[in-house]
Amino acid sequence: MIHPSQVTSQHSQRFIDTMGKKRVLVGYGIDVDAVANWINTCDGSKQNPTNVSRGIYGATVGIDRLLNLYSKYNIKATFFTPAHSIESFPTQLAKVRDAGHEIGLHGYTHEYVSQLSAKDQQTVLDRSIDVLSRFCGGKRPLGYTAPSWSTSKELIPQLEAAGIVYDHSFMHHDLQPYFAPDNSQSWVETNMAESAEAWMTPMSALKPSKVVEIPANWHLDDWPPLQPIPGRAGAQGFVDAHVVEKLWMEQFDFAYREYETFIFPMSIHPQVSGKPQVILMHERIIEYISGHEGVEWMTLGDIAKEFLEGRMPGVEVQGGVDL
Ligand SMILES: [Zn+2]
Repeated sequence: MIHPSQVTSQHSQRFIDTMGKKRVLVGYGIDVDAVANWINTCDGSKQNPTNVSRGIYGATVGIDRLLNLYSKYNIKATFFTPAHSIESFPTQLAKVRDAGHEIGLHGYTHEYVSQLSAKDQQTVLDRSIDVLSRFCGGKRPLGYTAPSWSTSKELIPQLEAAGIVYDHSFMHHDLQPYFAPDNSQSWVETNMAESAEAWMTPMSALKPSKVVEIPANWHLDDWPPLQPIPGRAGAQGFVDAHVVEKLWMEQFDFAYREYETFIFPMSIHPQVSGKPQVILMHERIIEYISGHEGVEWMTLGDIAKEFLEGRMPGVEVQGGVDL
């Protein structure tokens, strides 16, 4: 339960407006990725064509199966799509667009923002906005998720300057929307080659940006448990989908017990969730969640608007001190 003392005056009215009404906004963020996440080898090294074929599977078989799933349950979702995926699989992404789903930003070739200069981050963002806007008949994208949720201090200021309404890359909360901190806060990384006096410093105060954060959550992501990448411990991949379902639904059960209002954004990939055993998992999840009073399925863009327009209280992220 969110206590009124936890929300700012800016948010108090929102709290009063929704008090006593269970309201749960649930959405899927689909990282299309296609082949982009494979051919982003960072240093230009060659990619194994079998891995690239997994991306093609996602862009074709995976997208088709997810579109069928969402059509069956009348759900609108958000497809975060690298500009490279739109330019390489235009027919598939046109099906997504024409079915009324949201298309959001996800880099050009799934570059890791943390590894780009500020200038290259801006170049990729500008090109991606341009490609998505043209593909969507001049409609600018509302939202962004960073490839592999690998971010930078420049990211939120650049999104804000570009007029992007929401981001889905940070993890300050897991069940509430909030205004993303602008990342102007400072901290000092520990460097034991220097004296302790050099790094014993608190973090400076967080300051909110105008960008809404619909938080990311590795524990609501299909990739690490369900996508095997031989040799990479973090992507073991051979987990029983029923185990993943239990992990996700226990998070939902806790949220439903503890909060009057909350959001539940799940992050999936067509090349992972398009597999038969995972589609069946999503059918069970959708039916389970939909059996709860107060649940509404919507795009992450619509969840962000619910927060911005005062119909979802959310929280304020606090932390750091004035230095
Ligand atoms: Zn991705």
